[in-house]
Amino acid sequence: MSEATAITVAHGDGIGPEIMEATLTVLKGAGARLEIESIEIGQSVYLRGLTAGIEPSAWESLRRTKVFLKAPVTTPQGGGFKSLNVTIRKTLGLFANVRPCVSYHPFVRTKHPMMDVVVVRENEEDLYAGIEYRQSHQVVEALKIISRPGSERIVRYAFDYARKYGRKKVTCFTKDNIMKLTDGLFHRIFDEVAQSYPDIRNEHWIVDIGAAKLADTPEVFDVIVMPNLYGDILSDVAAQIAGSVGLAGSANIGEECAMFEAIHGSAPRRAGQNLANPSGLLLGAVMMLVHVGQTDVAERVHNAWLRTIEEGIHTYDIYTEGATRQKVGTREFARAVVERLGKKPEKLKAASYAGVSRVATPASTPHTAAPPREKKATVGVDVFLDWREGSAERLAEILRKTSAGGLELAMITNRGVKVWPERLPETFCSDHWRCRFLSSSAEEIDHGQITSLLERVNAAGLEFIKIETLCTFDGQPGYSLGQGE
Ligand code: NAD
Repeated sequence: MSEATAITVAHGDGIGPEIMEATLTVLKGAGARLEIESIEIGQSVYLRGLTAGIEPSAWESLRRTKVFLKAPVTTPQGGGFKSLNVTIRKTLGLFANVRPCVSYHPFVRTKHPMMDVVVVRENEEDLYAGIEYRQSHQVVEALKIISRPGSERIVRYAFDYARKYGRKKVTCFTKDNIMKLTDGLFHRIFDEVAQSYPDIRNEHWIVDIGAAKLADTPEVFDVIVMPNLYGDILSDVAAQIAGSVGLAGSANIGEECAMFEAIHGSAPRRAGQNLANPSGLLLGAVMMLVHVGQTDVAERVHNAWLRTIEEGIHTYDIYTEGATRQKVGTREFARAVVERLGKKPEKLKAASYAGVSRVATPASTPHTAAPPREKKATVGVDVFLDWREGSAERLAEILRKTSAGGLELAMITNRGVKVWPERLPETFCSDHWRCRFLSSSAEEIDHGQITSLLERVNAAGLEFIKIETLCTFDGQPGYSLGQGE
């Protein structure tokens, strides 16, 4: 028998302490070999004035054990408090969020009896980089960051997961018909990485129709990998349509550390009444047991849980007349699972983790040979202005006088739509203008030419709020065209 694994446990807020107690009771009953270090997180810590919701000393435990079983916490309303989940994910580099969404028909009500989908969500990049600006009176901006190594890592993780768990297909959702560079990169990397997994089918859907299909016929999907924002939204949709958000567990995986939890929150109105369903956290703990190599215990717990559900022993949230034989509280549910340890479900598919090991976490360096270094050349600049003094034509007139030193005004857009040269009178203009200057000789320019241009723009009395350099990579533009260009 292997040695005990040290893990860090947080009991959380609301229903957190009850469902954690129930989960630990089952783990103990199943013979999990764990050495538990408890830390305090959440409301009590927030209210002591620590806006991140976690004690500095808690990080020591997390960095020592590298495995975190976390109950939900309550994020206090109002300004100043940061989401603890985002802080933990980002600080520990937990780049992959893995969420199995399975239906337990006919024992838990669902419209999708055959659903068995795993959503793998990129956890660190995309619009969640949190880089936002108010640039003018009328316009705010958020930056969507997609990196090649970040995308490679998550896509490879999804394929490795599929292989380890005997899944047949990985689907990618993006919106690369609109975001050709950012989502385009994610999609391209998906296609590249898929080549190394000929044994697993792959496909790509535009996220809108993909989401519609997921909601309508989830049984046609197997593993779905997505950038952060789509993954955040659709993993909740997937869990909900499988039966109940109360039933799904999730893993947040990093190179070094991993965090396991239920997907639901702290349900404060249900707290302290022995009502809450501990299943989400318990299934999160099953993922943890696989992660730490205790697959025998993971299997025993998972199968006892399936048997309990199948025998109609249900908490209030999944109570269904006909399917429920006994409506129980949190503690009684845990006891029922413990009593069934060693048993397997008779109708639902039994869990089997024999031979399954932790999915390797590719390092942040790219797994494939680094792409050949393309030649990067700066060929222009977009200057963004906050301006309220007239039409696009008037602005172009002023800016044309700043064209010099090898940089020429080529286009003005407003909210992405081209408004000069030529615009439709219907196009609405805000106070936020993007003015594109390109190299007049089509040759590479240097940054000195850009700073001189900015001096001329400033001297013309215009307020620039940011610039973006325009580069080509081996002659291919590294920037999007204006809409209507
Ligand atoms: P919630 O998930 O706590 O509750 C939503 C609904 O589902 C409620 O009706 C609740 O009673 C029910 N529910 C949730 N879990 C249940 C369970 N295990 N058993 C039975 N019923 C359950 O979402 P919310 O009400 O929007 O959020 C409450 C608090 O939780 C907020 O402070 C929020 O910030 C926090 N939250 C924390 C996490 C986390 O720590 N991972 C995640 C989401 C929300």
